[in-house]
Amino acid sequence: MSVPKVYINGKYYDKPDAKVSVYDHGLLYGDGVFEGIRVYNSKVFRHQEHIDRLYESAKAIDLKIPLTPDEMKKAVEDTVTLNHKKEGYIRLVVTRGPGTLGLDPRRCDPNVIIIVDDISLYPPELYENGMPIVTSSIIRNHPNALSPRIKSLNYLNNILAKIEAIRAGCLEALMLNANGEVAECTGDNIFVIKHGVLKTPGTEAGILEGVTRNVVIELAKRLKIEVKEVALTRHDIYAADECFLTGSAAEVIAVTACDGRSIGTGKPGPITKQLREAFQALTRE
Ligand code: PMP
Repeated sequence: MSVPKVYINGKYYDKPDAKVSVYDHGLLYGDGVFEGIRVYNSKVFRHQEHIDRLYESAKAIDLKIPLTPDEMKKAVEDTVTLNHKKEGYIRLVVTRGPGTLGLDPRRCDPNVIIIVDDISLYPPELYENGMPIVTSSIIRNHPNALSPRIKSLNYLNNILAKIEAIRAGCLEALMLNANGEVAECTGDNIFVIKHGVLKTPGTEAGILEGVTRNVVIELAKRLKIEVKEVALTRHDIYAADECFLTGSAAEVIAVTACDGRSIGTGKPGPITKQLREAFQALTRE
């Protein structure tokens, strides 16, 4: 494979030369926003939704992106074309930019970075057989501290939960909110199926409103599966007939155990399979 060409502020650099300042507040403080987007059949999947979320996240952290949303869309498309990517993953990052060593962002000049590369989040056998998860002791960021709806560069909350999962021999952790309700996993949204009804926490649970989540809800409605956005507890996960996760990188993946309890039959369930197939058909059409 040829070396990825990375967009930084309107110019392209070969991967080894794609660098930003060590004074960038994105590095120093996690001050910035990002998106993770898939390319299927040379097309950027749900491009507008990702751009909209990026600009909403930027607004929420009071970061002025130096491109209009249309200019950003074009920059993303040009970077995909330049990298000849038919199938791949885009990491779109806007940092506060280099400034002084203090927190004050006023002297910073944002950096816009677009990386187009490959990604494989979980091993293929987990897509076949489903994966076990554990509940993390780390609660998801409280919305009044740092809203999980902001896709910010500050992912420590999720990373701490991920470390716990890995220590427990899993690749994903279930994160609860401050009320003890189910929020999401470290990089994915979570769904359960009980008596044929598809349930997922609403945004008020303190989650990132996933683009894949919304696509799966749309697909379920098209397939006449009843969908409810409701508060869920750990009991709803343990007692579910089926469970799965969604994310741009993860796509749709079954969860077959949580905290050592097998979910349903302990194998990917029929509605999960149906939705996974519908998602594959939509993205590979
Ligand atoms: N929750 C979190 C915390 C995430 O980081 C992500 C994205 N990786 C998601 C959910 C899923 O969002 P999307 O479907 O837009 O990728």
